[in-house]
Amino acid sequence: TGCILLLLALAFAGKSVSAQDDPIDKKVDSVLSKMTLDEKIGQLNQYNGDWEATGPVTKDVGNKLDEIRKGRVGAVLNIMGSAHTKIFQDAAMQSRMKIPLLFGQDVIHGYRITFPIPLAEACSWDTDAIEKAERIAATEAAASGINWTFAPMVDIARDPRWGRVMEGAGEDPYLGSLIAAARVRGFQGNGLGNTDAVMACAKHFAAYGAAIGGRDYNSVDMSLHTLWEYYLPPFKAAADAGVATFMNSFNDLNGTPATGSVYLQREVLKRKWNFKGFVVSDWGSIGEMIPHGYAKDNAEAALIAMTAGNDMDMESRSYINNLAKLVADNKVSFTLIDDAVSRILRKKFEMGLFDDPYRFINPGREKSALNLPENQDAAKDMAHKSMVLLKNDHQILPLSKQLKIVALIGPLVKAKKELKGFWSLDVDKNEDIPSLMDALQKQNPQTQYLFSYGCNINDQSKAGFADAVATAQKAEVVIMAMGEAPDMTGEAKSKSNIHLPGVQEELIKAVVETGKPVVVILMSGRPMIFNWTADHAPAILYAWWLGSQGGNAMADVLYGAYNPSGKLPITFPRTEGQIPIYYNHLNTGRPAASDNDVNYKSAYIDLPNSPKYAFGYGLSYTHFDYVDDEPFYTTTAIKDNENLSISFTLKNTGKYAGEETVQLYIRDLVAQPLRPVKELKDFRKVYLQAGESRRVSFNITRDMLSFYNDNLEYTTQPGEFQVMIGSASDDIRLKRTFELTN
Ligand code: BGC
Repeated sequence: TGCILLLLALAFAGKSVSAQDDPIDKKVDSVLSKMTLDEKIGQLNQYNGDWEATGPVTKDVGNKLDEIRKGRVGAVLNIMGSAHTKIFQDAAMQSRMKIPLLFGQDVIHGYRITFPIPLAEACSWDTDAIEKAERIAATEAAASGINWTFAPMVDIARDPRWGRVMEGAGEDPYLGSLIAAARVRGFQGNGLGNTDAVMACAKHFAAYGAAIGGRDYNSVDMSLHTLWEYYLPPFKAAADAGVATFMNSFNDLNGTPATGSVYLQREVLKRKWNFKGFVVSDWGSIGEMIPHGYAKDNAEAALIAMTAGNDMDMESRSYINNLAKLVADNKVSFTLIDDAVSRILRKKFEMGLFDDPYRFINPGREKSALNLPENQDAAKDMAHKSMVLLKNDHQILPLSKQLKIVALIGPLVKAKKELKGFWSLDVDKNEDIPSLMDALQKQNPQTQYLFSYGCNINDQSKAGFADAVATAQKAEVVIMAMGEAPDMTGEAKSKSNIHLPGVQEELIKAVVETGKPVVVILMSGRPMIFNWTADHAPAILYAWWLGSQGGNAMADVLYGAYNPSGKLPITFPRTEGQIPIYYNHLNTGRPAASDNDVNYKSAYIDLPNSPKYAFGYGLSYTHFDYVDDEPFYTTTAIKDNENLSISFTLKNTGKYAGEETVQLYIRDLVAQPLRPVKELKDFRKVYLQAGESRRVSFNITRDMLSFYNDNLEYTTQPGEFQVMIGSASDDIRLKRTFELTN
């Protein structure tokens, strides 16, 4: 079947009549016709450059420059800054064909200005703000020589042990798809060809987030149904948004490494989705098929990857060292090579690099485009929207400006660069990021802030506890800043124990037991477990890693200059033993009568099935009522081609202006195969002044009722549906059923 699929894919990859009229195709063909086989293979080869933004040309870099001059390299990664990228582009211009290089970089959450980590941004459910954040990241990166980012990561993740959960948008395919598309639009702006647009890269294709046990790089074993329902939609959304490139992944999917998967790359991506961009391997992932036990050596790995539709080899050198011989031995066809090279050349043309290889390399622009004050404001806005208020008993937040003495306790109170989190770029080595303490002191000079460290993030010493308690006792209110270290999430940062590390929770206990009002701020790249704190601390603000403006943004929220509005895009478990835990699970034949009914239902005998904090959860300083006073909907039965409009009144009944994210979930009550207990299908962000009401409307469309059947056809089945509207997946305020008829 592999061969048949391949032939099919190539038939489809072949140019249609209208594509032959495409001026870029003509240009690509013309360049291609002048290239030697070795030069073509060179285009498929990507090297790591140098980790430094600026710096001396070391021997290793020198060797790579020679390779570039010989036409043996199509792209490099990890070279930043116009000075350094110029050295490399100059080398490319000394090659026979003078084909410009691509400069790739992991611009994951900002370039010079660091935005909140992607998972934090996803808490905003604000696709405009996310698009804007990526627009700024792209503008800065594109002014510094970069023309390609390895982002967005659109992997669905249901396992907070997985360190890379920080890079994605959480567990939901619908929210994840909207965010994937927003990020692609942000990076690619008004289209490749503009000097402020960089090529985006949807990664890691596919199902990388479902690694067994949350261990990075591990195997994935899942039904095609699950793949299509939950894991592929954000990739499809990225493709539909015009993403220029895809990156495959380190994991195997049902026994085939994704890098060598004909099904994923040729059949799904290039044929079914008609993707015209190119696929890059993940770092060395072609070579990793050898330790996987899938290929016996680099030559076989190259053959498998090439056949499967992996166009560019990032750093494994399997292509550059083996493809020529594979072609000579008739194992890889010229057609296959030409297809891969054409895809890459096309992007270089679309970006205007053939017209001007230096269009992204412009020291003047680099100077004027980076770190603009208005872009720092956007980073602060994004940081505001990324925080999630988990608890606020007795309305202890926001704090009063009249407070005279406030104690700041914990290992992250003075964190500065740490606030940037993993996958941030050290573009400006002298950058001074205000800590939470800096920001509080600056904003409220009238208040005296006392500081006590309390304990380290990860060690067991309680030597600082006494001072912390004494400091708390001197204050009217205590703010604690606790969490993980920034390098505890990210690539290869999976953890079996995701509790708040070290003795931090014991420190919180010691401080809360002073009887002082305590606000706990938690920073991390993943959902952590902190049950004592959740049950006893009066206020908890989840702040993730908020980036360059994190300190200022946290201070704004503490004192009410910004009313928190974030909602969790991922479930917080009670213990690691509940993982994987996610809101859109299927029902069993043993549904829960109550959380305590352990003898009958599918559950643990020592824990409820409910999470600590559910998907969609997040508080505000104000309160929203979902009023069911007017007709909710006008009909209770719709035909397959009809839409159902529903509406209700949202009222801000609290004291503060604020923004609610109204969530609409749907359940198909009887279907084959089974449907989840609820699925997010739409949401509205509604900003209301204190006391204000507004009518909120939704339109239920056929697409929202569709799913993949047993034959993987996207379809609907008639019958009864439930629509649920609420403030979180476990806080449904309005519920109705309606019928879909034939
Ligand atoms: C990661 C990718 C990343 C690449 C280049 C790999 O190890 O998995 O996400 O884009 O390195 O830095």
